[in-house]
Amino acid sequence: MPLLSLAEYEGLAERSHGHLCAGQILGLRMALYGLNLLGLADPFGKDRKRLVAFVEIDRCATDAIAVVTGCRLGKRALKFRDFGKVAATFCDLPDDRAVRVSARESSKQRAAEMFPGVHDRNLQQMCAYRQLRDEELFETQWVRVSIGPEDLPGYKAPRVVCDNCGEGVNFKREVVRDGRTLCRSCAGERYYESL
Ligand SMILES: [Zn+2]
Ligand SMILES: [Zn+2]
Repeated sequence: MPLLSLAEYEGLAERSHGHLCAGQILGLRMALYGLNLLGLADPFGKDRKRLVAFVEIDRCATDAIAVVTGCRLGKRALKFRDFGKVAATFCDLPDDRAVRVSARESSKQRAAEMFPGVHDRNLQQMCAYRQLRDEELFETQWVRVSIGPEDLPGYKAPRVVCDNCGEGVNFKREVVRDGRTLCRSCAGERYYESL
């Protein structure tokens, strides 16, 4: 499936995310721009296995990025870094190239200037984000991203069992401490408390 029009992506994003909003449109545009800069035009076909996307926020835009790129958490091709920023880095694995695309702070202001008569902010931004040029919406930088083999899609490694809780651990996420193999939870990174 080659790249679609923005309107077609809007339909797909609305279905997958549950609603259409300014954040979705910004995410669609961001992903399209990233793919464009990398020169990849068939993310669901021949370019399917060469893309990894790092997203820096867990909001609407992130779902839209998955719609365009096909990069999904469950495929290990979408990496979440919780920086709270509307930004993403698109990595082309075989050529070891990556471009980071971030939303300009000025885009909301630009939307207000372009559509002063539209009083609903979300609608105002939706209209503007469809029309503004890529350079007006986003800042870009070419970057290098080191992705270890254990973080790549398709990585195969033996699964180990935590010496403390007995649960299986994949992808080399275990921690070896004082000769014991522990899961990250038992090694002190637990995000929950047992009741
Ligand atoms: Zn939304
Ligand atoms: Zn454990």
